[in-house]
Amino acid sequence: MITFLRLMLQGAYRNFVRIVLKADRATSLEIRNKVLTLSVPAWETVLDEMCIGCGGCAKVCPTQAITMVKLEKPVEIAEGYMREQVPRIDLTKCIFCLNCHDFCPIYSVFGEAAPIHARDVGSPKLTLREILKKPIRAPPEKIEELKKLIPPETVEFLRGGKK
Ligand code: SF4
Ligand code: SF4
Repeated sequence: MITFLRLMLQGAYRNFVRIVLKADRATSLEIRNKVLTLSVPAWETVLDEMCIGCGGCAKVCPTQAITMVKLEKPVEIAEGYMREQVPRIDLTKCIFCLNCHDFCPIYSVFGEAAPIHARDVGSPKLTLREILKKPIRAPPEKIEELKKLIPPETVEFLRGGKK
């Protein structure tokens, strides 16, 4: 324990010296300036326009780091199906297990990049409407697992109720 603490303090001190005193070249000037001006951009963890608002990610998060936030104006993402809420991740509670990503239906049902990823969502290749038109790729066991996480009408919607 004492060794661990010593290593942690040594690491923190070295990084502090690198960033603030520019003591060696491990930190680029660009990064150093961003750190010192508090302008390091936070990575994007949720792409609202790719989300169906099912809330599965919030249910599967082991640390309750995800809160579903109601949209002021729900969005019709397919005929008769509204997105009413979207997730927000509190990265101070996140342990980067990626359960949210792995259980998101967009990833687990359609095999596309999920709209949620604690380490940056990246850029999707398809629109949500295009993804929803794709055939289901998930095995029946996965659908059964999802049934425990998301509302039955959402399961039906994913199975082909959408237009
Ligand atoms: S990656 Fe973070 S937000 Fe996602 S399920 Fe794990 S702890 Fe929760
Ligand atoms: S599991 Fe995926 S689709 Fe469902 S609310 Fe979370 S991010 Fe959106």
